[in-house]
Amino acid sequence: MFRIIAIAVAAAILGTGALTAVPAAGQSDDPIARVLRQDQTAPGAPPSATHLPVAPAKAPPAPGAGPSPGSNAGASPPVVLSARIGEHEDRTRFVIELSDPVNIRTFTLTDPDRVVVDMPEVSWRLGAPPRPSGRGSVKSYRYGVFRKGNSRMVIDLTRPVRISDPLMIPPANGFGYRVVIDLFPTQRAKFNTEAGWPADLKARETDAERLTALMAESQKPTGRKVVVIDPGHGGLDSGTIGVNGMAEKDLVLAEGLNLAKALKAAGYTVHMTRDSDVFVPLPQRVAIARKLRADLMISLHADSNPDPDVTGLSIYTLSDGRSDREAAALAKRENQSDIIAGVDLSSANSPVAPILIDLAQRDTMNRSSRFAETALNQLDGVTDILARSPHRSASLAVLVAPDVPAVLIELGYLSNRADAARMNTQAWRTKVAKAITNAVDRHFAAGTSR
Ligand SMILES: [Zn+2]
Repeated sequence: MFRIIAIAVAAAILGTGALTAVPAAGQSDDPIARVLRQDQTAPGAPPSATHLPVAPAKAPPAPGAGPSPGSNAGASPPVVLSARIGEHEDRTRFVIELSDPVNIRTFTLTDPDRVVVDMPEVSWRLGAPPRPSGRGSVKSYRYGVFRKGNSRMVIDLTRPVRISDPLMIPPANGFGYRVVIDLFPTQRAKFNTEAGWPADLKARETDAERLTALMAESQKPTGRKVVVIDPGHGGLDSGTIGVNGMAEKDLVLAEGLNLAKALKAAGYTVHMTRDSDVFVPLPQRVAIARKLRADLMISLHADSNPDPDVTGLSIYTLSDGRSDREAAALAKRENQSDIIAGVDLSSANSPVAPILIDLAQRDTMNRSSRFAETALNQLDGVTDILARSPHRSASLAVLVAPDVPAVLIELGYLSNRADAARMNTQAWRTKVAKAITNAVDRHFAAGTSR
């Protein structure tokens, strides 16, 4: 199932989903190519490219790029103009070209081995991002908004590496600011010792989660039923890429907004775990629903299958441990989100750890299952339903709140042409949102008359 993720990631890198070939780095002869080739002939040279000039702490804006003099500098974020990968004997070199200087921070994570490159929010304008050959240290990579104000690049590794300090080269020869990051192969033991989240970042992350939870709590109203809509993936985690190029993260956000509108019109208090293209860690999604004491959480996703003929919507509830192979594979795919985005998984609440279900959770699980059945009844005839057992259970990290009934709806298969085309129409999105709203109505009506 990892293969599917890898394909989705590769497609996400290219933006459109089309896998076009990019000439190997080093074949062209521009300043970036030259930077990439530097040190190639000197394998015995010091590992860090310290002879390259370092950008001044406060550099002037690049000519012809970024904010022009006199404009509001805070209005538009720096632009990533290009990126290159140079694969050499002794190192793999990453070069990112930017319109403005930015502070870059790197660290490594294990299980799987990754390099995380953090920076302030930037806008990515990579026409055809470079693809690694797999011979160097880079297996694949992805980038995007991590959260508002922060962008992130996550590099999947083929082997343990040591990272050089990021180097900033000032504009020259028509190029903007270039950030150079070298990855040197290193010993497994050394990599493992040095890997992990920087302590201050960990603290900031915890603060951010606490703040989100507090904001959620302050929005807790009285009287009305609270529904949390959770559009899956987002930011640098694109989810599945459809045969028509549509990214799962965009589809589920659009449908989440539709559903929010429909539910608000029906009198519910609605909160979304994300209402823009940002990444939200899985435990944070669960925390938001719990803090709000939500009466129902609806997570929206779209599936993919190696068999392009598989179609239809399906609904997942939390598994009590027993799940078939297909459901387990789906859980593995959807639970990958935090790994894809380079989130710290070292806490006890790791979504990849086995999920333990206590007795108190049974009632919540029963309510979840009841809603899943109601929703399938309402959706039948409105959209194509998965032919074989459309209500399934799996160990999904986003459904683990012990006190919030929760379902994960796989709206359809982006790997199927008909499903992907359907899900790309406003007519389909409107009627599916309406059917889910009807199901919510029936669910709560039945719940109060018990
Ligand atoms: Zn998904």
